[in-house]
Amino acid sequence: MSTMFTEPEERVALREAVRKLASKYGREFVEKQAREGGKMTEMWLEMGRNGFLGVNLPEEYGGGGGGMSDLAAVLEEASAAGAPLLMMVVSPAIVGSIIARCGTEEQKKHWIPQIADGSVTAAFGITEADAGSNAHNITTTATRDGDEWVLNGQKTFISGVDEAQVILIVSRTEDAKTGKLKPALFMVPTDAPGFSRQVIPMAWKAPEKQFTLFLDNVRVPAEALVGDEDGGIWQLFAGLNPERIMGAAMSCGLARYALEKAVDYARERSVWKDVPIGAHQGIQHPLAKIKIELEQARLLWQKAAALYDAGDDFGAGEYANMAKYAGGEVSCNATDVAVHTHGGNGMTEEYGLANLLVASRLGRIAPVSREMILNFVAMHSLGLPKSY
Ligand SMILES: Cc1cc2nc3c(=O)[nH]c(=O)nc-3n(C[C@H](O)[C@H](O)[C@H](O)COP(=O)(O)OP(=O)(O)OC[C@H]3O[C@@H](n4cnc5c(N)ncnc54)[C@H](O)[C@@H]3O)c2cc1C
Repeated sequence: MSTMFTEPEERVALREAVRKLASKYGREFVEKQAREGGKMTEMWLEMGRNGFLGVNLPEEYGGGGGGMSDLAAVLEEASAAGAPLLMMVVSPAIVGSIIARCGTEEQKKHWIPQIADGSVTAAFGITEADAGSNAHNITTTATRDGDEWVLNGQKTFISGVDEAQVILIVSRTEDAKTGKLKPALFMVPTDAPGFSRQVIPMAWKAPEKQFTLFLDNVRVPAEALVGDEDGGIWQLFAGLNPERIMGAAMSCGLARYALEKAVDYARERSVWKDVPIGAHQGIQHPLAKIKIELEQARLLWQKAAALYDAGDDFGAGEYANMAKYAGGEVSCNATDVAVHTHGGNGMTEEYGLANLLVASRLGRIAPVSREMILNFVAMHSLGLPKSY
């Protein structure tokens, strides 16, 4: 029984190897890239060469043959080293998982090796201005025209489109009977005629940019459709559960980074004779509380990933949501405590913590907000009436 709460040796070794690679880049590299308009490409490609980006993808198509538990461990470690790779949430986790589970043989052969080695970065677009928390409202439509599909619509807050070669677009084909969302997923090249983008100025300073997208009669071949147009919403969830697990793991990594900085500072900084500020309970207790919340959140994403890897999509859905909630909370709380522990230095650029206050909010908002998770848990876990 005791081994149930420890990770297998291979994953521990994987974490160590990622930590080593990511530490070479670290927070300084990320901040420099953000400041100068650079990207994470160098680290991304090195991660790909080492097999870390595709660790969850099937071996027969160039992946590592592991699971979401492995990929999320990779992202947690990179984030804990101060160098989160936001596009890992999207490219290998959402898009890679959907293609591996729902794609045709040709799609798997074409896309998975390139996603796994990082030579292709895939973005993912579901959110629209009038369809954020309520994805059922999306109006981007796909219309069949002979051998092609024609896409029309707009998307917003789509990450990393400038560094992606392709984007998995969630559109709808109207179900004549119910009018309910029948998502149809398409791999759309980012240089397709009729496809354009506009950067959204964000207060969060990061190498990854966010975009509004315009699809104006974008034509893609029939083979661009991923999964079955009548396949239903589960095809989308093949990617959304991984997205939530990765969101949780990234938040946990950020919380680990912030906690480590705060503890180091509390140990060193001394303003009352010879004792460090960390000798005071007013400083210790908030840090200890973060440590407990962090371990709770990590256990939740590990459980969610284990359920997903075991093929229990329904169970994974419940735990992926709870993990995402717990991750978002602890990353916000940890960065808050880290800034406060640093006093005035917490607000300086030199210490680089204030920008993490903004970064950590992402874990509460995306890909599904804290409130929508509470709605889900109230309804599905507690059996209360649907409130939204
Ligand atoms: C940095 C960043 C990167 C992103 N990257 C991507 C991406 O790559 N691809 C993509 O498709 N999307 C992306 N998103 C979009 C993200 O998934 C949405 O922002 C998120 O789903 C929330 O939608 P919204 O912003 O429209 O908020 P809204 O839906 O307008 O919600 C606003 C507030 O109201 C609350 N609320 C809404 N409905 C209810 C209700 N019924 N009960 C209680 N509270 C409610 C929400 O919790 C939230 O606090 C990204 C967002 C950000 C900020």
